[in-house]
Amino acid sequence: MNIVESAKFHRSGEPTAPLVDLSGVRQVYRKSDGSDLVVLDNVSLTIAGGEIVGLLGRSGSGKSTLLRIIAGLLPATAGTVRWCGKPVTGPCEGIAMVFQSFALFPWLTVLENVEIGLEALGVPAAERRRRAIEAIDLIGLDGFESAYPKELSGGMRQRVGFARALVVHPRLLLMDEPFSSLDVLTAETLRTDLIDLWSEGRLPIESILMVTHNIEEAVLMCDRILIISSTPGRIMAEIKVDLPHPRNRLDPVFRQIVDDI
Ligand code: ADP
Ligand code: MG
Repeated sequence: MNIVESAKFHRSGEPTAPLVDLSGVRQVYRKSDGSDLVVLDNVSLTIAGGEIVGLLGRSGSGKSTLLRIIAGLLPATAGTVRWCGKPVTGPCEGIAMVFQSFALFPWLTVLENVEIGLEALGVPAAERRRRAIEAIDLIGLDGFESAYPKELSGGMRQRVGFARALVVHPRLLLMDEPFSSLDVLTAETLRTDLIDLWSEGRLPIESILMVTHNIEEAVLMCDRILIISSTPGRIMAEIKVDLPHPRNRLDPVFRQIVDDI
């Protein structure tokens, strides 16, 4: 399946069973003085197909921890985590992540950084290349395939981060403050490009969970926003963003309303 077919496939049909289902999740870290730090307490949430969900909370409230648990990278201390109805016991296929710090390999080119997402899945080399080029084109980086990360601006580096996540055609994309290391204008451009791709049905993904501490960003991008408290992190509120289709949210009148909030 190419990237366009994948995008269509992911967006066809009615929402089905939740992709992610967390119930009573608790996470406790052991501090260096030997005492316990309860980071997440009794967190329950679901993510359905087709939605963009925001996770909004202060620094240190456990947002990144929650993403790692959802991705199967960290076993929760207690509670249940299900991916497509099945208990999660290790890293989930079908989930990709974009990080605040880009997390690129400096010694690899753009193309190699993107292809690496497919290596672990055992995709043959020729297919890896074809899919990497598709993802690079989609995210607006064509012409930069053989550049190294240090030759790119922050915004372009994060585009590589996105291409590397999209190349696997994940069902769920987890984004951990993907715009917070970028300057305001660069962040805005990348956000707009993503909203455009999403609204046009060109992203080969089904749902997005985005961590942010920027309320304007959450309102602009998400269908639903979960607000997490600090120490311990609990879901305190859920806001349904019953607003125009994401694309229309770029309308200047709507932007003015958000600016005025
Ligand atoms: P957020 O992403 O909301 O800023 P994190 O999930 O990164 O929050 O961290 C939540 C809290 O857990 C912080 O106080 C952090 O210092 C602590 N923490 C995170 N990872 C670990 C770890 N591996 N061991 C101990 N404490 C941790
Ligand atoms: Mg974090």
